[in-house]
Amino acid sequence: MPANILLVEDEPAIQELIAVNLTRAGHHVIRVLDAEAAQRIVRETLPDLILLDWMLPGMSGVEFARRLRQDERTSAIPLIMLTARGEEQDKVAGLETGADDYITKPFSPRELVARIKAVLRRRAPEKTEDPVELAGLRLDPASHRVSADHRNVVLGPTEFKLLHFLMTRPERVHSRTQVLDQVWGDHVFVEERTVDVHIRRLRAALEPTGHDGLIQTVRGSGYRFSTQGECTE
Ligand code: CA
Repeated sequence: MPANILLVEDEPAIQELIAVNLTRAGHHVIRVLDAEAAQRIVRETLPDLILLDWMLPGMSGVEFARRLRQDERTSAIPLIMLTARGEEQDKVAGLETGADDYITKPFSPRELVARIKAVLRRRAPEKTEDPVELAGLRLDPASHRVSADHRNVVLGPTEFKLLHFLMTRPERVHSRTQVLDQVWGDHVFVEERTVDVHIRRLRAALEPTGHDGLIQTVRGSGYRFSTQGECTE
């Protein structure tokens, strides 16, 4: 499950070591030396995960983590803190900022890769290759296949990603902006109504088996995948 990982680390040797190992594990790594540069990256494109060093020049990693969590747009980005501090109290402080995990230096690259995988599986299930099955609808990321009541459903790449995103977060409402961030990644040049276009195509593909009702519009809020019957909002 390749992910776009933003690595915020000011020590070049450690940055290099981590980047080499993550690239080898199949991830795409964007490297920055401080939180200010990380903020600029995040403003344009949301990474799938952020690896954040605690001690940084300028804005600290803890402060940056706090800002990420306070902003609705970035609050859900999986976050792993890297630190030289091993104290229990610091660990608690790190997790209180909203980090999903906490790794103390020095760590083995293998451990880091395993922790990333665990956090992605928990926080961003659509980044994994695990098949998802709900209400007779089955999506298999490995084979890129979707079936509805055992009948093959042909979807375009965007509809596939959209369905994967919605199915791995059922019963939750997602605004168009959130969908753009998560499905399109860089949405600077994409209009919100593009989401509506692809939702329409997705519903049309699911209509023959009656699964289109699973993709619900929540007026004024966005979209939701729900197995709890038709939406009346
Ligand atoms: Ca540092």
